Order: sequence, then structure tokens, then C-alpha cells
Amino acid sequence: MAKPMKLTCLACGAVNRVPSDKLGAGPKCGTCGEKLNDAKVHEIDAGVLAKATKNDDLPLLVDFWAPWCGPCRMMAPEFSKAAQALGPDARLVKINTEDHPKVSARNNIRGIPTMILYQNGREVARQSGAVPARAIEDFVRTKARVGA
Ligand SMILES: [Zn+2]
Repeated sequence: MAKPMKLTCLACGAVNRVPSDKLGAGPKCGTCGEKLNDAKVHEIDAGVLAKATKNDDLPLLVDFWAPWCGPCRMMAPEFSKAAQALGPDARLVKINTEDHPKVSARNNIRGIPTMILYQNGREVARQSGAVPARAIEDFVRTKARVGA
């Protein structure tokens, strides 16, 4: 039996339920029609972040970054590569802590870039500092339950 997994739409914030065996089949949001799981990095806002971290069953890796941060900008292409490599097994998103300053305090961010991995509505692990794509992928695969 494919159990339904909760995925927050990264565009409109609606919580969708997707059978686990359909995660790789291009599921779309029932509310706005955006793709829910396309192996691309999406920039989200504080509202979507709060919902997705609380609801999502699929591993969600959040990159807390800011435009003035050099290591953050260096890591951006690596983060995109990792999103491609992980495919439908996880979603990778970014939040700009300059545009959304409250998220840093709310999530205890002491330096950027910081990546926090969430699954089943809670924080699973976090890591600070810029790292290459392979290390980002390994971080998700070792800390989250992937493809369960
Ligand atoms: Zn939507």
C-alpha cells in the first residue's frame, strides 16, 4: 500500500497528500497546479517555510542564506546539483534571511549558510557552512529516511 505523504505546495502553501509511489510521477498541487516535486530548488517565504516544516512527510532541506553572504552564493549551484541528484526523494528550498529576518531567530540560526533538514514535521539535523553537492546529498541520505 502506498501511504499518502503530506507535501506543502511551495508556491501557494496548500498541504497536499501524495501517495508515496507517485512522488516521482510529477505530482501537482490540487489548489494552484504548480509542480510539487520537480528536483529543483525553490525560493520560499516565511509563511510557506512555517507550514512545510510543520507538515511535510518528505525530507525537506532548507538553506538559510542571504545575498551578502559569499559562501552562500558559492554554495547555490552545489545546492541545485544536490536537488537534481536527490530527485523525488527530497525537496530542497532556500529562504532569504535578509528578506525574512524573523526566520533566523525562530530557527536559531547563528551563521549562514545553515542547512536544516526536516521530516515528518520536525527538525532532523542541521549543518552550517558551505559544502559541495555530494556532501549535501549525503547529509540528506544519511540523516533522513529516504524512499521509505
Ligand atoms: Zn499550490
